[in-house]
Amino acid sequence: MPLKPYACANCGHWQRYFAPPPDCPVCTDTRNDLPEDGWRFLTVEEVRPMLRGHWRRLERDLVAFSVSPPLGLNGTGWLLLQPEGNIAFEAAPFYTDEMLAEIERLGGIRFLAASHVHGYGALWQLQDVFRPEVLAIQKEDLWLTKAFRVTRPYDEALEIAPGLVLHHVGGHYEGQAVLHDAGRRILFCGDAFKVDQDEAGNSTAVSTHKAFHKSIPLTPGEIRRYREVIAGLDFDTVCTPFEHAPGVGRDIALAVLDDQLRGPPGVRHIPIDELRRSAMQ
Ligand SMILES: [Zn+2]
Ligand SMILES: [Zn+2]
Repeated sequence: MPLKPYACANCGHWQRYFAPPPDCPVCTDTRNDLPEDGWRFLTVEEVRPMLRGHWRRLERDLVAFSVSPPLGLNGTGWLLLQPEGNIAFEAAPFYTDEMLAEIERLGGIRFLAASHVHGYGALWQLQDVFRPEVLAIQKEDLWLTKAFRVTRPYDEALEIAPGLVLHHVGGHYEGQAVLHDAGRRILFCGDAFKVDQDEAGNSTAVSTHKAFHKSIPLTPGEIRRYREVIAGLDFDTVCTPFEHAPGVGRDIALAVLDDQLRGPPGVRHIPIDELRRSAMQ
């Protein structure tokens, strides 16, 4: 029997296995919740009819791919349109034939990467279909990549194209990395930040955390590491696996980290107005 991809119905994590897997490494980890009523794993044949695919063209030649209804953590796949070959960062939980056809129409994928396991989605599908030259994941998280093949593990940083650099930040996940896009002035920040947004998509608060569901804070050393990397990067927008947040730039990101360094460790959803005020001081 060839290995088949299975998605965890609770978090959406894909594994290739010879039978439904015994458990899901993302859900058994403390940073995610366990399903309350046992494991359920879905095959591609089961997932495909459940979902509709969507894509949204944003400014700065950025396209956001998503599905509905939600599957698992339900992240967004970002596609950065580049004259020298497109970059996909993070992935949607699944790609329907229509989504794959749209990516093909937009020029396919030359470089593929993700911040950490909560952004992997169906990365394996993008690798199978588009055969990118590079699939880059930071070396500490290689053990979570059984559904696809990492071709470019890296240490501290990796420039995947001119002006597009992956930086290892750790913290939330040991191998978490951010992608800095100097030309677009966007930081694809993984779960280094969580942006609360209202129904209209306006950002209302920003937090940082080790574990979101359990509200576990980062350590001061982990926050300092984030700060060291981010302080050197110019950006006016962050994209997490879940949110596109124009206006959340470097000053606001640093204000979130400085709040953590001043106060006792704790997950605080700091209102955006308060962050703007402290960023101006
Ligand atoms: Zn899971
Ligand atoms: Zn995460």
